[in-house]
Amino acid sequence: MPLIGLGVYQLPSGKATEEAVKFALKTGYRHIDTASLYGNEESVGRAVRESGVPREQVFVTTKLWNSDHGYDSALRAFEKSQRRLGLGYVDLYLIHWPVSQLRDESWRALVELQRRGSCRAIGVSNYTVRHLGELLNGSKVIPDVNQVEFNPFLYQEELLRYCKDEGIQLEAYSPLTRGHRLRDPVVLEVARNYSKSPAQILIRWSLQHGLVVIPKSSRPERIRENSEVFDFEISTADMSRLDSLGENLHTDWDPTDAV
Ligand code: NDP
Repeated sequence: MPLIGLGVYQLPSGKATEEAVKFALKTGYRHIDTASLYGNEESVGRAVRESGVPREQVFVTTKLWNSDHGYDSALRAFEKSQRRLGLGYVDLYLIHWPVSQLRDESWRALVELQRRGSCRAIGVSNYTVRHLGELLNGSKVIPDVNQVEFNPFLYQEELLRYCKDEGIQLEAYSPLTRGHRLRDPVVLEVARNYSKSPAQILIRWSLQHGLVVIPKSSRPERIRENSEVFDFEISTADMSRLDSLGENLHTDWDPTDAV
């Protein structure tokens, strides 16, 4: 699974998504993160097909939306996503949110889809330690990935440890805090230490904690900037300073109380 992916949440279907995905692939990205909810799977698929990059070199994730939970509904929803993408198999299919009562049935459907070879890997998103514990109690198949909101301002140490112990790859969404903390004084100071941008520092911080990271941008210069994070290393001292910024910042939804 490529460590950096392009997130396409809130990119409108059509030209905007296609151009962002094509530019990302041209600049070296090999991983795109979409979802049925985002309404742009068709554009992602078209951009990948037209990019000239061989299908097998691109890692594409999509997700099961909340209204499609349940065994049969999940299978049907997957088929629709697969058709919209038009890429044959899906690299990673995720349960977008731990919907109460139905999520175990949906997980069985994802296990079946993987068995059929329709998706290479399966996983979950917005699962807390409690949700993962329940899933592991009821299923022999462990999720390959858990995609959660993760950045220094929402440093989920317990979840990170749990996923490492269980062999689940943690993936950081909203790694740039959607822009809300890019001018934080500590982030700015660390960025100056390495002559890097605040966004690059936040992405590198997640990578050094072992996460896969999926920053979103629609702008070519930022798409490139967000991928230029492999030529420096944040020191232990600066990592600790960033680690201490935790303030339980949820920019979107908080799954803590999802029953
Ligand atoms: P991000 O933290 O990636 O932030 C995106 C915002 O930051 C946009 O406003 C973007 O603006 C701006 N930005 C991007 N790069 C830079 C830069 N280098 N410097 C300054 N600003 C920058 O937020 P997202 O919530 O979009 O998360 C990323 C991806 O994670 C999503 O696109 C989606 O794929 C996934 N996601 C998954 C969720 C889930 O429930 N599973 C929930 C939310 C997101 P601009 O586009 O103008 O550059």
